[in-house]
Amino acid sequence: MRRRFSGGRLVIASHNPGKVIEIAELLGPYAVDVVSAGALGLAEPEETGMTFAENAALKAHAAAAASGLPALADDSGLVVPALDGAPGIYSARWAGPGKDFRIAMKKVETALAGKDDRRAHFACALAVAWPDGHVESFEGVVHGVLVWPPRGTRGFGYDPMFQADGRTETFGEMEPSQKHRISHRARAFRLLVDGCFGGAP
Ligand code: IMP
Repeated sequence: MRRRFSGGRLVIASHNPGKVIEIAELLGPYAVDVVSAGALGLAEPEETGMTFAENAALKAHAAAAASGLPALADDSGLVVPALDGAPGIYSARWAGPGKDFRIAMKKVETALAGKDDRRAHFACALAVAWPDGHVESFEGVVHGVLVWPPRGTRGFGYDPMFQADGRTETFGEMEPSQKHRISHRARAFRLLVDGCFGGAP
């Protein structure tokens, strides 16, 4: 039995303003008073987990313990089986200090040289933690292949080199609304609202 969010304030355990806005919009139809970890002055914990789910849970736990409120965190990335799962939880770091994803995509392509298997998936883990230590976790994935050269200027991160199964355009070429219908994040959110927020509004 999933624990339900009983209303009131929910901390979004992210210091990324874009992500906080996106999550607040997704939770708009529910009786949730969203506040960001940054607005509460909470410290950002080190992401020491070995999986997306562990990192999401540790961020949610840290924010719930520090604020005394339930907290929601996410962690996501690109998983390439032919590269033993890399870049995985290090997806952001592959872009270097300048956060240049042309560099990160080139690194992936270089590592794939000579390999036939170009399958990949994006994964998104979401965790809601309560101050008593209880946590509920959800994960969404979207499968596809990696193309080269990258195509499209929409989206972010590795989007221009990712083509979801059954599609001819990359995430970088897709209308954002289309990407949001099929993305790993959308799938994880559907599970989250079903599990903790009482389903579709
Ligand atoms: P984080 O969850 O904010 O730590 O993001 C991890 C990294 O995964 C991002 O910086 C992107 O590089 C990559 N990533 C996660 N989701 C997506 C996506 O939807 N498109 C492209 N890249 C993504």
